[in-house]
Amino acid sequence: MPWTERQQALLAAMGLRVWQPAAATTEAVLQAAPVPPVPFASPVAPAPHVAPAPVPAPAAAALAPMAAPPPVDTGAVASLDWPALREAVAACRACGLCESRTQTVFGVGHPRAEWMVVGEAPGEQEDRKGEPFVGPAGQLLDAMLHALGVTRAADGPAAERVYIANTLKCRPPRNRNPAPEEMAACEPFLVRQIQLVRPRIILAMGRFAVQALLRSAEPIGKLRGRVHQYQGVPLVVTYHPAYLLRNLPDKARAWEDLCLAAATAEANRGAGA
Ligand code: URA
Repeated sequence: MPWTERQQALLAAMGLRVWQPAAATTEAVLQAAPVPPVPFASPVAPAPHVAPAPVPAPAAAALAPMAAPPPVDTGAVASLDWPALREAVAACRACGLCESRTQTVFGVGHPRAEWMVVGEAPGEQEDRKGEPFVGPAGQLLDAMLHALGVTRAADGPAAERVYIANTLKCRPPRNRNPAPEEMAACEPFLVRQIQLVRPRIILAMGRFAVQALLRSAEPIGKLRGRVHQYQGVPLVVTYHPAYLLRNLPDKARAWEDLCLAAATAEANRGAGA
């Protein structure tokens, strides 16, 4: 069966080349594809080296043991609207990550998008910019979504929009894995974001998103390929884009996952959900 234009665009966006008959070469397909020229295969330009500023000696007060951070009031979070939720996240000190973050990374996209992507945690660039998925993994994610006709713009038709949020709103130092207590402390914010967006489809990317939403420690390979449910919303599991950047063969599987998510969103729309 020949690839449709959209499928070809997605494959191109993911850095996959497909065989084409002579009349429609891959080059022609890639040129026609409505995909921004994201350099997936090329290494990211190294950040310019900036000499670190001398670190002042910590004041005596900074050496005193820290009081336990106050817990998130989950009851209060559950009734917040978008502006109040954003403020609550910005002010959060419920776990130790508040000490090392540059800023919180709330989420981005259309407030009633039909698509919702849940990732892991901000990295260095996200921590600096205050927006999720802006580094190389984010560029891959955007290209994949773009090929499906979906963008993170905050306005426009909800069916063509995505809301992107992370399991954690603060960057773990040196991009280490989220700790269980950090995920627990941050969870009410993600839950409320999903309630406010009310998406038709959730794409859970990577094992920490899966742990948070499905409470499953199964590997992605075991959970992908079928439709799960998160509080009545269909949920598809797929690989994290940062993983895909390192594991080329799994891009084809991620493509299948995106197709499954698109078909599920479409069916959900047809059902008037
Ligand atoms: N990886 C994530 O899971 N989220 C981001 O925002 C960036 C990288």
